[in-house]
Amino acid sequence: MSGILAVLEQREGQLHKMALEALAAAQKLGAELGAPVYAALLGTGADAAAQVVAQYDLAGVHVLGHHLLAEYTPDGYTLALRQLIEALNPTYVLFAHTYQVRDFAPRLATALNRVLVSDVVGHRAENGAVVLVRQMFQGKIAADVHFNGEGPFFASVQAGAFRADTLVAGSAKIAAFSATLDAAQIRTKPLERFRESARAVDLTAAPIIVSVGRGIREEDNIPLVQELADVLGGELAASRPICDNGWLPMERQVGSSGQTVAPKMYLAVGISGAIQHLVGMKGSKVIVAINKDPEAPIFEVADYGIVGDLFQVVPALIAELKKK
Ligand SMILES: Cc1cc2nc3c(=O)[nH]c(=O)nc-3n(C[C@H](O)[C@H](O)[C@H](O)COP(=O)(O)OP(=O)(O)OC[C@H]3O[C@@H](n4cnc5c(N)ncnc54)[C@H](O)[C@@H]3O)c2cc1C
Repeated sequence: MSGILAVLEQREGQLHKMALEALAAAQKLGAELGAPVYAALLGTGADAAAQVVAQYDLAGVHVLGHHLLAEYTPDGYTLALRQLIEALNPTYVLFAHTYQVRDFAPRLATALNRVLVSDVVGHRAENGAVVLVRQMFQGKIAADVHFNGEGPFFASVQAGAFRADTLVAGSAKIAAFSATLDAAQIRTKPLERFRESARAVDLTAAPIIVSVGRGIREEDNIPLVQELADVLGGELAASRPICDNGWLPMERQVGSSGQTVAPKMYLAVGISGAIQHLVGMKGSKVIVAINKDPEAPIFEVADYGIVGDLFQVVPALIAELKKK
């Protein structure tokens, strides 16, 4: 096969939100190169997740079954995927840039004497070759990356860089792939899965995010922005100073040292738009900014901007939204 293989993360039958973004990247590349696109899934629930993935226009979906793959281990995933890749011989192997992928994909690529180009934000075709684009120095520079030699070429794609809603529907065949694994090859033993506290929030899954910055002045004013998030049915997030001050938990921080999000709408309230913040949210579908400074850099990425005092604008917005 000379095609594209998208390795999709799932847990107990639920696809990781970014999995479909990786699949969208694979479909896009496949369409441009005229190459078939395949998906691969591993772990408990892979069969159920494969049913969902098979509803897209793919040349096939491979389910890697083995009791040693039930729980994620870097050894198990590396060994099993290596066997699948050697059997299929794809030109490109794509992943979403999830924590799990960061853990095992560099090792998988190295096992095949290749490298992983991580956190890709875009691509283009140049003289029949694919050029990948990835950010450096916290988004200040976009680097073009070319592959040398023969595939398989490995790359992971950044959250929000490719949109799952561009996926083309279809009907793909599901095939089982039996990996050969020995318990002695798995050097780590999964223990009980870490569960975040009940307050923990997965901002990457929120369709609407209202994010608050230092313009809010003090902790006592945070409920104003929380109310806006509530009437919009969104999640509350923040720039770093808000979390550094302990006004909101760290899990709500967006940016280079926080979460990378790509919701349908990101409403930035009193956030200047420092590069470290922008890298975490500029993939959002629609960006709305409220800031009293018309020169604030956030307006450079905003689709809609309101220049004004948030203490006047936000209550007025809440009142209007409540009428609806
Ligand atoms: C290594 C490193 C990593 C970092 N990681 C992150 C990160 O992950 N996330 C992050 O956010 N930052 C991060 N930062 C910090 C970043 O550089 C900025 O300092 C930070 O994003 C600024 O937050 P802010 O926009 O809330 O505050 P400010 O830059 O102080 O902006 C406040 C804004 O509010 C506006 N404003 C003030 N009053 C009002 C009002 N009444 N009505 C309307 N607007 C008003 C102002 O005009 C201003 O634009 C990082 C920095 C470093 C060095």
